[in-house]
Amino acid sequence: MDLFNIIGVLEGRSKKDEYVVVSAHYDHLGLKSSGSDKIYNGADDDASGVSAVLALAEYFKAKGTNERTIVFVTFTGEEAGMLGSTYFGTQIDASNYVAGINIEMIGKESKFGSKTAWLTGFDRSDFGKIIQKNLEGTAYKLYPDPYTGYNLFFRSDNASMAKLGIPAHTFSTGPLDNDKHYHKVSDEAETLNVTTITETIKAIAKGTESIIRGVDTPSRIKD
Ligand SMILES: [Zn+2]
Repeated sequence: MDLFNIIGVLEGRSKKDEYVVVSAHYDHLGLKSSGSDKIYNGADDDASGVSAVLALAEYFKAKGTNERTIVFVTFTGEEAGMLGSTYFGTQIDASNYVAGINIEMIGKESKFGSKTAWLTGFDRSDFGKIIQKNLEGTAYKLYPDPYTGYNLFFRSDNASMAKLGIPAHTFSTGPLDNDKHYHKVSDEAETLNVTTITETIKAIAKGTESIIRGVDTPSRIKD
């Protein structure tokens, strides 16, 4: 079976050889063998993230302030073992990649309340601190991943870039300890909070802007 990542590139103005990835995965779990509903829609996991990638592509294209080149990617095969992002990692020169902005499950309010998200691997680079600084003065807050026992930094597509040293992290609002639709056929669009999605996309746009503009460069991930 052939698998495809879907990629769009917005060339940078003055720093076109410095790349920032904005990503999410478009695959989910496919079909269930039995039951009246057999389709794993994956509305939150991770159509919500894909909607963010598309909205951010439109936003940054219209804004035209990207001094760095932005590589918008929707990855395939995340649920099957990060197949798409692993392949992507073999095709790039990581030293040219300054950041990875991965987005997973932003369709439900986080455990910290409205207008909040959390970031995986918060202490592994200063990416998260840059985002927090850029969100100062707004009502939106970014927290370190509260589910430290789940090892989430290594369980989404950001890991395929982070293991190459790229400061690549995942934004999420997922209430993982209390999400009855996680990896179920009931992960349907009606279960999502659209306000949470839009507020989070806006916060990611504002939070990452200084990186996109080439003003801030997050520290590399160490082994
Ligand atoms: Zn996912």
